[in-house]
Amino acid sequence: MPNPFTNATKQLENAAELLNLNKNILEILKNPKGILEVSIPIKMDSGKTKVFKGYRSQYNDALGPFKGGIRFHPKVNLSEVKALSAWMTWKCAVVGLPLGGGKGGVVVDPKKLSAKEIEKLSRGYVQAMKDFIGPEKDILAPDVYTNPQIMAWMMDEFSRIKGYNVPGFVTGKPIEVGGARGRKFSTAQGGIYVLEKAVKRLKMNSEKTIVAIQGFGNAGSFVAKILSALGYNIVAVSDSRGGVVIDQESGIRNQKFKNNGLNIKNIIKFKKETGSVVGFPNTKTITNEQLLKLDVDILIPAALENVITEKNASRIKAKLIIELANGPITPEADIILEKKGIIVVPDILANAGGVIVSYFEWVQNLQNYYWTEKENISKLKTIIEKSFDKVWAKKECSNISMRLAAYMVAVERVAKAEELRRGL
Ligand code: GLU
Repeated sequence: MPNPFTNATKQLENAAELLNLNKNILEILKNPKGILEVSIPIKMDSGKTKVFKGYRSQYNDALGPFKGGIRFHPKVNLSEVKALSAWMTWKCAVVGLPLGGGKGGVVVDPKKLSAKEIEKLSRGYVQAMKDFIGPEKDILAPDVYTNPQIMAWMMDEFSRIKGYNVPGFVTGKPIEVGGARGRKFSTAQGGIYVLEKAVKRLKMNSEKTIVAIQGFGNAGSFVAKILSALGYNIVAVSDSRGGVVIDQESGIRNQKFKNNGLNIKNIIKFKKETGSVVGFPNTKTITNEQLLKLDVDILIPAALENVITEKNASRIKAKLIIELANGPITPEADIILEKKGIIVVPDILANAGGVIVSYFEWVQNLQNYYWTEKENISKLKTIIEKSFDKVWAKKECSNISMRLAAYMVAVERVAKAEELRRGL
């Protein structure tokens, strides 16, 4: 399995080389500023005590406080958390937010825990990290298998420690406790804005465009819902248990789709009831790996990192890949895809919608003045489309991939701030 932090470092080095970056600054940018590893003891429902390992990597805060989500997943490890914190740094920078990058994680399978145990774990994480996080230092948010309820528990715990309400310490909260309107679907919405921009640039026709989505969590399911309403044909989706592809005799090409391919509303309902998309009526079951190689126009990896590697990259047929997940393509696979002429809208831009609206949430919490959903989403649109245009222009004028162009924009911004602050 490729090491995510090695991948993140490689991506930084590629951009640094083209930017001719000062070596001293590169050394600083290659390392997280701080890492915390904690043990969180939880009294389980059974009465037994279990100890969970938790991490927080604070990568860079030259542009503003560390910012990034917290992941609850059995495969969380230090290399992954470090990589995710680096990606948060570049993500905030490429879209011009006054925020740095951080990321946290707990090694746990939350599907095996009761709600009470998850609450204890969420509060335990905040207790263990309390001296290192806060609205001016490091701001938490949801990520894989964490949700608004978990953010509410974390906010409550931190507020109890302080003795007063501190909503700005975590974003992605429920609206009732200071969440931003529209934050729930903002990662997907941001992804759609860049997808539509790319579709226009590549002169694709949304009516005929065929899409496959890997991952059906918060980002993946919302993106499916919005795209389907826009008239795109979604022919395959998947989750951790497997995938489904529309079952039509003539295959997924050269036909008129009724209801834009899969009925997304019903699939969402089906997954809620059964726990998975697998088994949805009138579909064929496929593996996640098979989904990636389908003959589609747009592929949206929306689950975990390292799914497109040098092993399967040559068999990807999509013309456009929108990285809604963090780190789904390895640097080796990137080279293969580029040679095949496949356009990749990189994670740091494609999934930045979440942190952009998180930024709005933080600003609103600090001011105690709240905006409408329309205000949040229209501001998101302006920021992400402008960032897309900037990255696209750089890609065109330097004849490089979108990833490299996005990294150049981001790394230059952080490097400039480091340079000015340190007098290097
Ligand atoms: N976890 C999300 C991401 O990877 C959101 C982070 C945030 O809102 O701070 O971008």
